[in-house]
Amino acid sequence: MRILVSNDDGIYSPGIAALAEVAAEFGSVRVVAPDVERSSSGHAITASRPLSYRRTVVGGFEAYRVNGTPADCVALGAYLWEKVDLVLSGLNLGLNLGNGIWHSGTLAAAKQAALLGLRGIALSAPATAEPDFTSIKPWMRRVVETLLPLSDLCLTNVNFPRDPRGLVWTRVSVRKYDGRIVPTTDPENRPLYWFSVTPIEGAEEGTDRWAVEQQWVSLTPLRLDLTDDPMLSRLRATRPLEEQVATAVSPKRSSREAADAVKSEEAEAPATKLHGV
Ligand code: MN
Repeated sequence: MRILVSNDDGIYSPGIAALAEVAAEFGSVRVVAPDVERSSSGHAITASRPLSYRRTVVGGFEAYRVNGTPADCVALGAYLWEKVDLVLSGLNLGLNLGNGIWHSGTLAAAKQAALLGLRGIALSAPATAEPDFTSIKPWMRRVVETLLPLSDLCLTNVNFPRDPRGLVWTRVSVRKYDGRIVPTTDPENRPLYWFSVTPIEGAEEGTDRWAVEQQWVSLTPLRLDLTDDPMLSRLRATRPLEEQVATAVSPKRSSREAADAVKSEEAEAPATKLHGV
């Protein structure tokens, strides 16, 4: 089995070496990760300049540092190393719980795997877990052992507490948000702002945050389809637009011309469009 290991903390983070060592127990490992830290970069991709890589070594493993985002690394890694079976992202030094998954570069690397039709697992631990991962390593092993046989599970977000008691399935905690703007000043007394994460407590039972608060390893299965299905049904029933006409007059399959037009419009990269501005 081919396991691509990536992260958002940068290729020289001790967390990625620890994860690669665990991954090597399950298959052949290649490390492809950003050349610098890209935490909180979310699912950004580099579309306005080309990507390149340089060979390096991480914990004795074949490794490539890329001048791009976590999502770039997974896309490039999967292209260069054909038939990747699994992408592991982490071990992130910092938890990725609740609404934090919207910003997480760690999760984005795993999400990029899922977008490519591969399986992705994001693994995060408290930042204070550095530099000694010996207590978390057996739990990382158990997570991979647990998830590997579940072949229809495409995307999983895993968070480790400091001293785990066991593994639990969870849902995303979305009722509270821990990001906020914190004002400060520079030496000239001009205003500056930090987009900061502040700790929140008291999460709902069964959620990722609740699990980690209770010292359980949290395993959250995620899906790519963000459609709000109950809302969509309600809107179609109570606020119908032109859906009926659209399905009646549109051919069962899109015409080649219509499909080609959308395809070429999507391919218009922002950089190309800039020339027209
Ligand atoms: Mn990070």
